[in-house]
Amino acid sequence: MHALYPGSFDPITFGHLEIIRRGLVVFGELTVAVASHLGKSAVFGLDERLDLLRVSVPASDKLHIESFDGLVVDYCREHGLPVILRGLRNGSDLDYEYQMANTNAELAEEIETVFLMAGSEHSHISSSLIKEIASLGGDVSAFVPPAVAAQLSERLRRK
Ligand code: ADP
Repeated sequence: MHALYPGSFDPITFGHLEIIRRGLVVFGELTVAVASHLGKSAVFGLDERLDLLRVSVPASDKLHIESFDGLVVDYCREHGLPVILRGLRNGSDLDYEYQMANTNAELAEEIETVFLMAGSEHSHISSSLIKEIASLGGDVSAFVPPAVAAQLSERLRRK
């Protein structure tokens, strides 16, 4: 089965990479879809987020990196993808994801949302916390791939 893993990926973290690795095992084929518009809170533009993903994921002809604009369920329908994959870290993720999954089910009942629980090693990692640590001069290399750590310190130093 071919699943869609949508998100902001601003930037990609080891937590996202773990979901991608395990998602590939469970579904066999995965499209990671990067939301194109994030508003003012975004640190990285769409092309940068796509590039950072491409250099950070394992090479596989079963793994595709794309962008999307609009509703996730519309993307799934247009590309014939029956499953949305999301990661769950904690209770706050659950509240939000539960609402989103039920809304998407109402918009497109044939599309199923499936969750993978974050592993204990990565469950505390979030893109926003990483941006905050980096902006305060902290070392984020334990949380993100090397290309992301390098870009983050470069970007936030210039701000
Ligand atoms: P969004 O803005 O759509 O939530 P994110 O890039 O923040 O985009 O997250 C995309 C998906 O990855 C979400 O399902 C989120 O819960 C999941 N995720 C984010 N960080 C982690 C992590 N450390 N471990 C597991 N899943 C995660």
